[in-house]
Amino acid sequence: MNEAVRRGLLAHQPSDLIGGKFLALQSAGVVGSSELVASHDPAHPNVQVWSAAAQLSHIDLAVKAARAAGQGWIDAGQDVRRAALMRWKDVVFANEDRIARLITLEAGKTLAESHLEAKALADKVSITLEAQNANRIAGFEFAVNPTRQGICAFRPHGVMAVFGPFNFPAHLPNGHFVPALLAGNTVIFKPSERTPAVGQLLAELADLASFPAGVFNVVSGGPQVAAKLSDHPDIDGILFTGSWITGRRILAANLDRPGRMIALEMGGSNAAIVCGDCHLKQAVIECVRSAFATAGQRCSCTRRIIVDASIAETFIPLFAKVASTLLIGSGDSNEPIFMGPLISSAARESVLAFQSRKVREGAVSILPATKLDCDGWFLSPGIMQVQRFDIMTDEEVFGPLVQIAIASDDDDAIAQANASQFGLAAAVFTANEERWKRISPHIRAGCINWNVGTAGASSRLPFGGLGRSGNNRPAGAMSLEYCAAPIAQLEERTDAVSLPQGMRPF
Ligand code: NAD
Repeated sequence: MNEAVRRGLLAHQPSDLIGGKFLALQSAGVVGSSELVASHDPAHPNVQVWSAAAQLSHIDLAVKAARAAGQGWIDAGQDVRRAALMRWKDVVFANEDRIARLITLEAGKTLAESHLEAKALADKVSITLEAQNANRIAGFEFAVNPTRQGICAFRPHGVMAVFGPFNFPAHLPNGHFVPALLAGNTVIFKPSERTPAVGQLLAELADLASFPAGVFNVVSGGPQVAAKLSDHPDIDGILFTGSWITGRRILAANLDRPGRMIALEMGGSNAAIVCGDCHLKQAVIECVRSAFATAGQRCSCTRRIIVDASIAETFIPLFAKVASTLLIGSGDSNEPIFMGPLISSAARESVLAFQSRKVREGAVSILPATKLDCDGWFLSPGIMQVQRFDIMTDEEVFGPLVQIAIASDDDDAIAQANASQFGLAAAVFTANEERWKRISPHIRAGCINWNVGTAGASSRLPFGGLGRSGNNRPAGAMSLEYCAAPIAQLEERTDAVSLPQGMRPF
């Protein structure tokens, strides 16, 4: 039996939620028009958390159900949709513990982190409903002349496909579908194939929140299911959080659909600039925290540190010393664990392969990332020093591995920070506000922090990036904006009509 069900974290055997009904999935092993999906506890990989044969045929069913529910959901009006989201808020709030335990079981995060993620679900509803955010799609109107009104009204796109990553398997899809639902869209959520149990839990909680049938659907699956859904002719938008490689596939599949809303939140190769006049303790703690939070599996983790030559000899050994003492362990441990395991054996191998390649190319390993001597997919923090950062060789490495380079001055630091195709997050550590104000406008990133590490963001601000990090559709507080389109309406309230030049009166 799947562990998530055995522990009572899921009420149903593996199932999809389509049109308000749970459709059971066959157990893994059945082939044909299906795709096998299985998740494991990353701290104890012999424990299978969830497994099933995902059904490709469920995609058409879900799209039909979402389409059929669309008109009623629009006609219901915002008050009804707000009330439904308030029920969702109450349900996720009441189930925080269950959500957190399942995230830790399936994604390996520490329980403390999982609780923060679970809490964020209800917070997202509050933030979305706040006037300053809800009003983003309130529209406006004005008198074109004494009898004619000009109106800008926002309309939902229609059926939205939501794709989520494994590292925030509940919070990030919730961050897309809460605003999408408020704006009047219907949703098909395809969870990460590495966290399908958390995806199913969201389906079970949506059922408790009593969304009208078909308004919120969940279809599990891997890349085949995902590709079929993102290329489906009868969806209207794609709200995606994941890697650049997958985001690129989505764009490629939709080249002939310029009208489809595609909001992409993708990866990062985030830089922290450490100036010579920084508060040393603050810079070290924030850089270590941001480099290794969630075992380096956050889009906003610090991947590159650019340290001023004047402080490098002090900063680098201290940074390595603090990183080497981080407590690593199973996410549900009673110890105050800093980081858990990586999501899979393959993820760990790819970090190690990158480390070896860099060292072969001349990087100096200051603290080698090393497998822990146990079954789980654990990896200790790794630190490498490189000559300088180069846009041609930059890539996102999704694990606990950070690179450091030295800058000769602030201009050099800015140039190295921008030596990336990504542009998600950046941090500048300096005690001098003038210096921060001089440096920050020149950094190409969507989230730029002063004396705060790159990892961790406020849900009350926009969250998104430039270049290969995003397509200027920031999530966070701005997410409603990509969930509705402005429509222009002219309304004439009388029978007034003027005769155009060249037309004969009748
Ligand atoms: P991923 O790209 O492998 O998968 C993300 C989702 O895309 C999964 O649900 C997957 O099934 C789906 N998918 C696969 N093929 C698809 C297709 N053809 N069309 C549509 N969807 C498809 O990402 P991951 O490994 O789960 O997550 C880690 C990545 O996500 C990292 O690159 C990280 O930086 C990024 N991320 C970004 C943010 C952000 O807000 N910018 C937040 C978290 C993670």
